Amino acid sequence: MAKLTFLGAAGTVTGSKYLVEAAGKRLLLDCGIFQGSNVLSDRNYKPLSIDPKTIDYVVLTHAHLDHTGWLPCLVKAGYHGPIYANPATIELTSLVLKDSAHLQEEDTLHAQKHGYSRHANPHALYTPEDVDPVLRLMKPITRVGGFQVSSEFHFVAYDAGHILGSTSLELTISESGKKIVVIFSGDIGRYNQPILKNPVTPSSNADVLLCESTYGDRDHQSGDAREALAEVVNRVAKRGGSIVIPAFAIGRTQTFMYYLRELEDQQRIPRLPVYVDSPMALSATDLYVKYREDHDKNFVQVESANGGKGDPLNVHEFHLTRTADQSKAINNVKTPCIIVSASGMVSGGRVLHHLVQRLPNPQNAVILAGFQAQGTRGRALQEGAKTLRIFGQEVIVKAEIVVMGQFSAHAGKSELIRWLQALPSAPKQTYLTHGEPAAAQSLQRAIQDQFKWNAAVARYLDTVDLGR
Ligand SMILES: [Zn+2]
Repeated sequence: MAKLTFLGAAGTVTGSKYLVEAAGKRLLLDCGIFQGSNVLSDRNYKPLSIDPKTIDYVVLTHAHLDHTGWLPCLVKAGYHGPIYANPATIELTSLVLKDSAHLQEEDTLHAQKHGYSRHANPHALYTPEDVDPVLRLMKPITRVGGFQVSSEFHFVAYDAGHILGSTSLELTISESGKKIVVIFSGDIGRYNQPILKNPVTPSSNADVLLCESTYGDRDHQSGDAREALAEVVNRVAKRGGSIVIPAFAIGRTQTFMYYLRELEDQQRIPRLPVYVDSPMALSATDLYVKYREDHDKNFVQVESANGGKGDPLNVHEFHLTRTADQSKAINNVKTPCIIVSASGMVSGGRVLHHLVQRLPNPQNAVILAGFQAQGTRGRALQEGAKTLRIFGQEVIVKAEIVVMGQFSAHAGKSELIRWLQALPSAPKQTYLTHGEPAAAQSLQRAIQDQFKWNAAVARYLDTVDLGR
């Protein structure tokens, strides 16, 4: 009997890992790390409930760290099968894993030097040397459409519109002459957003559906994102302050660049220096330009302007910082500027240094655009914390904190409903994944009320039958 185990992204938005067992084979869908509270991040250091050597295949929905970041641990623990992903996802995953390994090393060294870790002997989950063995296992699959993993597992990929290369996956399991269809939503993006195309709902009748529920309990702020961003930039520049934008290097950084460039071109904001303090973000931006099959119509229009020399992701006063010294030098910039730096939930990375510098000054602003998971510093800022613990010190929060949900890369509640509504028939069973409990439960109720489907909230480490 085919079954599925929730090894992550159940009761939380991070750690996506779903184990499918059928016809004597094991397939792992996504392999993300947990982020947020200590309880969650401690899970990254524990072995899986099954031996990674016994897994036959890995398939990825997209490159974000909470879907790929545990791959080096999986491979270190003996996994040696193929890791299937589309070409954009393979390239982005390579960036994400190298960057993650590098940041972990930096953070660990910093913690050891300053002695603020809660661990007696802080150590990284993995090092840059652990990443290459993962990349060697990567096998390209089609961007959209069908691909065969084995005689038991056949997939169809659909564009999820969340980040470059992101997909929803429809899996058909063949077991003892029976076929079972399982749909994995992956992370569902937004409709009518810049750069990427709209999410596409899979078109088969599903026996089982796993649907993400990051924003299962709310919609994003309405209103024009450009307008909102222009207002903040003008307000902060006028009072002589700077703006820090904690952003995932992949996805949100490009969205901000796109909007800032557009606002500059329309002379709706001054041309401020924009520091993108993440080498990975620039490499990711290059990939966004390279993979044209992901571009929506507007992006193509801007791109083809000026005889094909349009560059929709490049602001006018762009500064890239590669080294840690260049990053620190941004501290000396006292005139208005915009600093875009990871991590998006302020759980680590160089954005910490910028916040130590900029948070105590009321002239400055911090724009929170992405989902801020429970237990992260980003969540604390969003909820109005007066101080923030960074590098073992309490940093006073005087800067203006601006929450801009319009820039989210995740579908809001009504967009999730829109995506679900497009399914051709009711799945026999739906599990809500990738959401904090309140969000998952709220989407569960909406699905039960509106569609009368069987829907349950996925529970961490639960195993469910797929073939009933
Ligand atoms: Zn994602």
